[in-house]
This record gives sequence, structure tokens and C-alpha cells, in this order.
Amino acid sequence: MSRPGTIGAQPGLEREYLTADLPGARQRALAELMAGNRRFVTDTLRHPNQNASHRAAVATEQHPFAVIVGCSDSRLAAEIIFDRGLGDLFVVRTAGHTIGPEVLGSVEYAVSVLRTPLVVVLGHDSCGAVQAARAAAATGTAPTGHLRAVVDAVVPSLRRAQQAGVDDLDAIVDIHIAQTVEAMLESSEALAAEVAAGGCAVVGMSYRLAAGEVRIVAAEPTEMAGVVAAAA
Ligand SMILES: [Zn+2]
Repeated sequence: MSRPGTIGAQPGLEREYLTADLPGARQRALAELMAGNRRFVTDTLRHPNQNASHRAAVATEQHPFAVIVGCSDSRLAAEIIFDRGLGDLFVVRTAGHTIGPEVLGSVEYAVSVLRTPLVVVLGHDSCGAVQAARAAAATGTAPTGHLRAVVDAVVPSLRRAQQAGVDDLDAIVDIHIAQTVEAMLESSEALAAEVAAGGCAVVGMSYRLAAGEVRIVAAEPTEMAGVVAAAA
């Protein structure tokens, strides 16, 4: 699956597709995302891979370099905040980035079949799903319908926050992101095996709605968190 190809919008910037079979692909994928987020924060967007010729180029096959498991919040659109385009990101979004079987199956497809080298769990400050779970816990009233599944999925993170004496909503969000990274690795043997083999990394990122900036709050393997510092 490591066919040569290109990512990036600059003319002449030829790169191989970042697949799990390439050495350094995990680090390069993370650096690419952080660079795109930096462009978004500083209002220097390039809108890569969004024109008609690229649309035609990726019509027959895809080699996304990152999976984004993000919250469904309308202000958290992955291609916008990472300044990417068609074929770059394999995106799965649920309220509170909760992970059921379909989400895990989608991640496993990207990692095992498409050979995507990086999985990002993307949460954000003021998350409504975390707020809803906190309200349900405080009042002892579970929401009705399928919303309950979202709230129930956040409860382990609330417990962990409570045990750590953390009460601030945005600090709880960061704990929930780290908890989601751990839960994903515990629940998906295929993903855990790829990470153990060095073909894939899972990184938790926390996004600030007003600033537009992501920051790494969890990483497996842990040394992935140092990629950004090294690239800066
Ligand atoms: Zn949210």
C-alpha cells in the first residue's frame, strides 16, 4: 500500500503517501497536522488539496495520512482546523468523541486497510457532551433516548476526574480525551497491535474554540508528544 504519491499543496512538494509501512510516517503525519493547525491559528491558510485536479487525482483511491476521531461539535471541522483537503483525513465524529463498535470498526479500517499511520482523538473546551454528562451525574437524572449512550460513555472520565480532584470543565475534557485514547487501545486489538508494531500512533488533542489551537494531551507511544517540540 506504499505507492508513491503526493500530499501537500505546494507545487513541486513531492512526498510519498504517509502509510504505516513507511519509516517515520507517524511523526510526519503529526507534524503535518500541527503545521496545518498553525496556519489556521495564524490565518495563513493554504487550503491544500481542495481543487478540481486534486479531486480527480484521488477519485479512484485514498491514502489519508491521519484518522480523526473527533467530537461532532459544529465548530470542530477537521479539514478546516488542520487546513487539509480531499483524501487527507479519515474522519469519524460523534458527540463527545464517544467510541462504539462502528467507530472502532471505522478506525480499524483506516489503520489496517488504508495503512493510515496516525489516529487523533480530538476534543475541545466547553464540550456539550461532557457538560451533559456532568449535569446528569449532578442531578442523578439520565437523559432519555439514545443521548443516554453518549452520557454513559463519558461517565468513566468523570469518575477519573473526581478521583484526581479535578472539577474544572476544560480539565475534565482533557481527561476525557486521554481516557478515550486508552479506551480505544483497550477495545481494539487491531489498533493496539499496529501501535505495538510501530506502524501507528494514537494522539489525543484538545482544541480551544476561541483560539483555534490544538494541544497534545495524550500520546501512545508517549514519545510522539515530543514530535511537535522537536519540530518547533
Ligand atoms: Zn464536544
